[in-house]
Amino acid sequence: MNIHEYQAKKLLASYGAPVAKGIPIFSKEEARKAAEELGGPLWVVKSQIHAGGRGKGKFKELPEDAKGGVRLAFDLDEMQAHVDEMLGNTLVTKQTGPAGKQVNQLYLEDGADIERELYLSLLVDRVTGQVAFVVSTEGGMDIEAVAEETPEKIHNISIDPDAGVTEANASAICDALKLDGDARADGMKLFPILYKAFTEKDMSLLEINPLIVMKDGHLRVLDAKVSFDGNALFRHPDIVELRDLTEEDDKEIEASKYDLAYIALDGTIGCMVNGAGLAMSTMDIIKLYGEEPANFLDVGGGANAEKVTAAFKIITADPNVKGILVNIFGGIMRCDVIAEGVLTAVKEVGLDVPLVVRLEGTKVAEGKKLIEESGLNVIPADDLDDAAQKIVAAVKGA
Ligand code: ADP
Ligand code: MG
Repeated sequence: MNIHEYQAKKLLASYGAPVAKGIPIFSKEEARKAAEELGGPLWVVKSQIHAGGRGKGKFKELPEDAKGGVRLAFDLDEMQAHVDEMLGNTLVTKQTGPAGKQVNQLYLEDGADIERELYLSLLVDRVTGQVAFVVSTEGGMDIEAVAEETPEKIHNISIDPDAGVTEANASAICDALKLDGDARADGMKLFPILYKAFTEKDMSLLEINPLIVMKDGHLRVLDAKVSFDGNALFRHPDIVELRDLTEEDDKEIEASKYDLAYIALDGTIGCMVNGAGLAMSTMDIIKLYGEEPANFLDVGGGANAEKVTAAFKIITADPNVKGILVNIFGGIMRCDVIAEGVLTAVKEVGLDVPLVVRLEGTKVAEGKKLIEESGLNVIPADDLDDAAQKIVAAVKGA
């Protein structure tokens, strides 16, 4: 689960991290009062969407040369003009995809006097099995290019979970970031704080880009992106409160109600599969035969007809879906139950696209019989290869 920058900053500030004063706003009318409260003399107007690259982003509704999704304002009128232009419009960044994201909230923040922009993130390093700090002196808006062109400028410092962030660890991070004086003292305090927030709140990613050294020599968290481990959310009701459903895919929200493991993708073939491994190989083989999956969907081992019906509805509600491949191996799951679910769903929502069904395993004969006798236009397949070729051919033919 992701949260907005302003929420992440509030959370980090509660642990003692240095962040600027700021006020989130949801309407144009709130802007002036909030800006007066902050006091200036420099304000930054920041689009709140669950995607990075906002500074270099473009608003769909504005001319090509208009400013991006993070803007400086030197007086109240300029601030208000930015708010009026940004709020409600669609911001397209490297991370949003071409559709962009509607900006429904802005964050008004005190402007900082920046001396240097650094990169710092915490993540779970799966090689060492430890939380690691990933840092670079080359922070700011082009960290992806740094990672690609000069990877030696990115440093990785793993933290032993028994010891936590030791003096030696914090020093190593300071060295990697070339911090001295006040900035170094700030860093020695800040890094353990970030680690504490990360582990206590079960984060899966904490990215501060940039962490800045200000002209006065101190450190400040200027941007913050936080993702939480979904499997641990049950122990953080305070974090769940921060969820913003408008940022999430409607189909994924619907799927989560039925406990379906569903991820929307941008291809054309909707997949309904049981088991994550089988779902992955189904997606692979669709690609092998030249099409792209519209989703990942694992209906799970114990799916019943109701769950299958819900899954089918979610797939057919996606306008990008030009064909559906149902690929079920009946182990715990019975093929006749799947067949029933598919047939119920087709009767309820109709079927405008080709549907290939491949069933194998427990009660396969009963399942196939149900489908044959239904009189519906379902293309049966014998194995995974056959199924993938048939759905790709059907979609290409359509
Ligand atoms: P994004 O990473 O989505 O582009 P950031 O929050 O990192 O958004 O902002 C982009 C850039 O805007 C930063 O690298 C920094 O140069 C500038 N910026 C952001 N917030 C402030 C601020 N409060 N004061 C001054 N400059 C800022
Ligand atoms: Mg940033």
